[in-house]
Amino acid sequence: MITQDIQEILLSEDQIAERCRELAAQIQADYLARGSIPVVVGLLKGSVPFMAELMKRFTMPVEVAFMKVSSYQGTKSVGDVRIDMDMDLSTVDRDVLLVEDIVDTGRTLKAVKQMFRNKGAQGVQVVALLDKPDRRVVDIEADYVGFEVPNEFVVGFGLDYNQRYRNLPYIGILKPEVYEQGE
Ligand code: 5GP
Ligand code: MG
Ligand code: MG
Repeated sequence: MITQDIQEILLSEDQIAERCRELAAQIQADYLARGSIPVVVGLLKGSVPFMAELMKRFTMPVEVAFMKVSSYQGTKSVGDVRIDMDMDLSTVDRDVLLVEDIVDTGRTLKAVKQMFRNKGAQGVQVVALLDKPDRRVVDIEADYVGFEVPNEFVVGFGLDYNQRYRNLPYIGILKPEVYEQGE
């Protein structure tokens, strides 16, 4: 079973749920103070459990959508983004709340934010469950962060290694032998 591959649990199910409640309350208060209701956009697949935990705490009438993107480094240093699966709602003149699993180098976030602006969104804000500030290569920060994590590869609660471990209810560090087997 995949639980045997985990070396250490960094964030428990309860810790994550509690932090998601706090984040949702803060985010909702901020939007209501500005008189705005966002379109909440989850980036597939890593954001799915986080999105579920957050959205059920909102009582404002948000709309929810998902999209799948892959980021790559183009010829420019900023990187670029390819849409693998587009969303089914318009975000023109709307405030967008992007829901991300983790901000690592920051390339994905920077490219996706720019894409929404180009498509006519009014504003783009970001909530990321995890942040690895030590790994940043582009100058970008999420507006809301669940937890800062050290510079280690983490899995669970949506985050994968070779498409596995997304279904773990907590966030943990893999045993090194799992990577070694995979190489
Ligand atoms: P960025 O463009 O910020 O470098 O990339 C972010 C993406 O890289 C995340 O959405 C995630 O898919 C992947 N990623 C970055 N760090 C980790 C990590 O520690 N664990 C896992 N499972 N994925 C990561
Ligand atoms: Mg992601
Ligand atoms: Mg991944």
